[in-house]
Amino acid sequence: MSSNKGLVVIITAPGGTGKGTVIKKLLKENKHIKYSVSCTSRAKRENDAASNYHYITKEKFEKMIDNDQLFEYVQFCDNYYGTPKEFILNTIEQNDDIILELEYQGALTLKNKFPEARIIFLLPPTFNELKHRLYHRHNDDKDRIIQRLTKSEDEVGNAHKFDYLVINDILNDTIRIIETIIKFEKDRNSCTIDEIKSVESCIINKEANIKFINNFLKDIKNHNFEEV
Ligand code: 5GP
Repeated sequence: MSSNKGLVVIITAPGGTGKGTVIKKLLKENKHIKYSVSCTSRAKRENDAASNYHYITKEKFEKMIDNDQLFEYVQFCDNYYGTPKEFILNTIEQNDDIILELEYQGALTLKNKFPEARIIFLLPPTFNELKHRLYHRHNDDKDRIIQRLTKSEDEVGNAHKFDYLVINDILNDTIRIIETIIKFEKDRNSCTIDEIKSVESCIINKEANIKFINNFLKDIKNHNFEEV
């Protein structure tokens, strides 16, 4: 079915999967995809890019909650974080698409409020690759890496609640498949048979994907989180 509205796509992934790189390239190559910037009441950090968040006061955030201006929000370390409604609704009204980057609970809350949204779960090809990427990007100390790997068990364990699984191995392939998922979700009649097949192979509850996710989960449980 073709719709004149844009699509809301939530990207969720364990830290280290490379979702930041994927989103940056998607936005650069697709002018019709816009990024939804979250609001936060936390103070701006020195290394935050200017466009990371809309930084607002706690009082303003609470007013936004009272006025139902957020699709979802969380309170984390005494700060609020949330997804503003207005930008998303205005953007899809103009047939542009929205991409959001949310941790899995936020993704599920948003989908609950806005069932037309689609959640794409990104994973690296193997658990060892996830460890390798985290240890070699030199962003986090060891404790933080272990925290992220521990959290990934929860994320992967909830994967069956998402819509699509995309294995982020070769960046260009990841970009092409996400673009095709968006095209398919907006108007499947405009897709070629090969495009439909490639999208269908990413549906999260396909047998091969369930197997991949279960093996990934087994690897998380059976391996230590030490550097590889
Ligand atoms: P940080 O302070 O490191 O930028 O973010 C802290 C946490 O808040 C991260 O786990 C991040 O994913 C999460 N977060 C950022 N924006 C949002 C949002 O709009 N909604 C939800 N649910 N979580 C968010």
